[in-house]
Amino acid sequence: MSASWVDIAVNLTNAQFNDDACDVVEHAKRAGVEHMLLVGCDLESSKQSLDYAERWDLFATAGVHPHDAKDVVQDYLVQLTDLHNHSKAIAVGECGLDFNRDFSPRQVQQHVLSEQLALAESLNKPVYLHEREASETLLSILKEHKVRGILHCFTGNQQALEAYLDYGLHIGVTGWVCDERRGQELQTLVPIIPDDRLHLETDAPFLIPRTLTPKPKHRRNEPAFLIAVAQQVARLRGAELPTLKLQCYRNFKTLFGVDNND
Ligand SMILES: [Zn+2]
Repeated sequence: MSASWVDIAVNLTNAQFNDDACDVVEHAKRAGVEHMLLVGCDLESSKQSLDYAERWDLFATAGVHPHDAKDVVQDYLVQLTDLHNHSKAIAVGECGLDFNRDFSPRQVQQHVLSEQLALAESLNKPVYLHEREASETLLSILKEHKVRGILHCFTGNQQALEAYLDYGLHIGVTGWVCDERRGQELQTLVPIIPDDRLHLETDAPFLIPRTLTPKPKHRRNEPAFLIAVAQQVARLRGAELPTLKLQCYRNFKTLFGVDNND
């Protein structure tokens, strides 16, 4: 692995990338985003993400998103464990709680999350967490387990941020921070994330950075646009871009335990 920008959230199996996933990856690599973590949100997309990761030398998560928790099959943990034998599967997730959308009943979200936290513990892999309007419940469930991992696309308040940091989690920042309206609170919190816990992500095809210039014609976000997130985060932290790049790259290697030779 070479030092480069790392996009820790690319939903490459999303239908918006059906026609040109390969071009999207190429475009990102040419823009300096050489490493990408492809996000699985159910068994099917986890499997496909692993296939993509193998094909284009990327990484992937395998897990069940809270939105999909209601649809798990009886033996999903067995199948998930099997997917985690793949060398490109570096985190359990994305998993977590979403009390904003509530696409799955909350009890089901909590149960499927707990099972995946236990899986991460038994596999000794980091967890890849999603949380929306559910920080207190998530923290209480986390405290029943001993996992390391990342809270991706952090959009909460200072209290939640400090609690996640206290637990030991790393924090992912998306283009939410580029939104001049709803990103205001996050902008004030980005400087207090410790250097060795920070990760950058696009969450493509969602959350296109509103600071992109010129504005692309379509609204689909791409991993190549990670640079716009990096510029905003560097500005808010008073950091130089090369320093930020190296920090985030090291954090990626440390948290996910990939290739520690350089
Ligand atoms: Zn998410």
